[in-house]
Amino acid sequence: MRSLTLHPRIAMAVYAHPDDADVAAGGVMAQWAAEGCDVHLVVVCDGSKGAHGSQTKPERLRDVRRAELELAADLLGVREVHGLEVPDGDVTNSDQLRSTLVGLIRRVRPDVVLGPDPTATFFGGVYVNHRDHRETGWALLDAAAPASAMALYYPEQGEAHQVSWLLLSGTHEPDVAIDVASTIDVKVKAVLAHHSQTGDDAEGVSDVVRGRASQAGRSLGLSFAEAFRSVELAG
Ligand SMILES: [Zn+2]
Repeated sequence: MRSLTLHPRIAMAVYAHPDDADVAAGGVMAQWAAEGCDVHLVVVCDGSKGAHGSQTKPERLRDVRRAELELAADLLGVREVHGLEVPDGDVTNSDQLRSTLVGLIRRVRPDVVLGPDPTATFFGGVYVNHRDHRETGWALLDAAAPASAMALYYPEQGEAHQVSWLLLSGTHEPDVAIDVASTIDVKVKAVLAHHSQTGDDAEGVSDVVRGRASQAGRSLGLSFAEAFRSVELAG
């Protein structure tokens, strides 16, 4: 693990559900936005099945989560949210999704792309990584490396663009940590903006978010960090 400092001009986070980016990379996104980076957030799913039990109607939940997402994105300083509105559970690494992501990458032209590591399936014998996270991760990898950089792939989706860095969260093989001490408070607020997911125990959620960030930075002596598997594609 090594400490990484990046100052991207344009960054794009691609995650499955409305709260995923905040949990995985909210500190980094807020930090870059504060430095003047244009941070774009692509949310593949509509969040409509993100509830236990059957009391909540999917359409109602989708609307609630869209409002939560907008609030969280404002807190982080995200320039633009791109919602693809795929129903929860229906994400597949399809030609259509890859084409859409290639089009977004070529239009936004990010230096850095953040997203979920699709190779992580099991966590600690207690959690199976959600299919939407895995499928989003695979589609993103395929779209960023190499499709968006090669003009003959999806020529209808605009001029080719080479992403310089991929940073993958939710990984079993993190190799970089980014210091987020200056934005950990904003990250906590953004995570808590997804009230439908976090419930009323704000203090407990804050402790979990801070605890994970503390753990991620410990080996490097950082008080709070976010850890990623990094891939430097160019430059
Ligand atoms: Zn999720």
